[in-house]
Amino acid sequence: MLVHRPESIPLEPELGNASGGSSFYNCFWFHLFKITKTVHSLGGFFVMRGNSMTQLDFAKQGVITDEMQHAAEYEGIAPEVLRELIAKGWAVIPKNVKRTFAARAIGKGLLTKVNANIGTSTDHVDIQEEIKKLEAAIYYGADSVMDLSTGGDLHAIRKMILEQSTVMVGAVPIYQVAAELSAKNKSIIHMSGEQLFDAIEQQCEEGIDYITVHCGVTQKSAELASKQKRVMGIVSRGGSLLAAWMKHHNKENPLYEQFDRLCMIAHKYDVTLSLGDGLRPGAIADATDAAQIEELVILGQLVKYARDAGVQVIVEGPGHVPMDQITANIIAEKRICDNAPFYVLGPLTTDAAPGYDHIVGAIGGAIAALAGADFLCYVTPAEHLCLPTVEDVRLGVIGTRIAAHSADIAKGIPKAVKQDLEMSKCRKALDWEGMFSKAIDPDMARIRRKRSEDYGEKVCTMCGKLCAIKTHNECELL
Ligand code: SF4
Repeated sequence: MLVHRPESIPLEPELGNASGGSSFYNCFWFHLFKITKTVHSLGGFFVMRGNSMTQLDFAKQGVITDEMQHAAEYEGIAPEVLRELIAKGWAVIPKNVKRTFAARAIGKGLLTKVNANIGTSTDHVDIQEEIKKLEAAIYYGADSVMDLSTGGDLHAIRKMILEQSTVMVGAVPIYQVAAELSAKNKSIIHMSGEQLFDAIEQQCEEGIDYITVHCGVTQKSAELASKQKRVMGIVSRGGSLLAAWMKHHNKENPLYEQFDRLCMIAHKYDVTLSLGDGLRPGAIADATDAAQIEELVILGQLVKYARDAGVQVIVEGPGHVPMDQITANIIAEKRICDNAPFYVLGPLTTDAAPGYDHIVGAIGGAIAALAGADFLCYVTPAEHLCLPTVEDVRLGVIGTRIAAHSADIAKGIPKAVKQDLEMSKCRKALDWEGMFSKAIDPDMARIRRKRSEDYGEKVCTMCGKLCAIKTHNECELL
């Protein structure tokens, strides 16, 4: 975890331009299990398990791994509680067996986690800038980053992010396939199923901790989306790529058809599957339609298959959703997917605030997290407009962390409640350093406080000599 503000992160807020556009498992039985290949019946087809153990396998067997120990410590809960959640599939620890970092868990009753998307685009490639975004995301408290790069040397970018990230790293393998085809002036219709699975295996082998796979975009659900006469159609990049491929070839989604193969690869590296919402609404008017719900039902079935195969799995959710439908969306996911951790993209509660979508995402994220969403994907002010800058990343992370933290307080998560109580006590004592140390963004709090420093140690310029806290404290002394 970075503890000093990286120099690359501006102290003053500024409008950014578009960027140019072991663990050692000490139980004998598990060493024995590790060298045993098993075949498990899985919903009518068979899944070959690799010769490794996932956090889910260990949890089911009653073993508390080092990762569970560390993640539980971070949450302030007993490791056994976390193990039970993981065994049920209600929580996951996304961490590739090839990576070493302080793992965190995502799931029911835990602190709401925050993801920041970074990565190049086909129109703007600057690896150093992406590293600065990574540093900013981690410094301001992201629990996860996703490398969504589609431009430049994707392998080199991913390698650098994996080497430098101290948090979990996710990716979307189909982006790599599409980008490589695009570099050869070919479209997604030239993709083969093998190419897609090769990219998945490559990214898992390189150490990615979780992957978004749009397995629920089937011929039936995609057809429903087109019949819906949506305002925005299919807005997920991965979802639209797969829908275009399926339509052209009149074939089923290989990620759905060969889900057992996907599980086998994920199991080998203990990569968590993030079942993408390829048919998520991209407009408020499209929210919670039949195609979205059809996809969710499919994902619910795949959650069960993945868990039976020992694969950790989470579900992704919308999208653009009006405030009154957010809670219903969370309840539906939890019911249909048997409490699988829910990873929501925003949600955005209005389409009408370009330039401020980090605020819109924070509003939706807070409602979603309060209703039970476990993992919030940030939205930056650049959303719908351009590739985010480092400053956009900072604003996106801070906004989403405020949403997550606010919901955690309301849910009574002890660590969140304690932080606010400590902040309140520091405020009462007019202890500025104490306040900074409890702030979600200490840098910004310091910048604002500096404007008051000339006016005395004990008050700020908001009320000056009429400072209510000072008055109250002095009265108590009398
Ligand atoms: S001056 Fe006003 S705003 Fe500032 S610390 Fe005192 S009561 Fe709070």
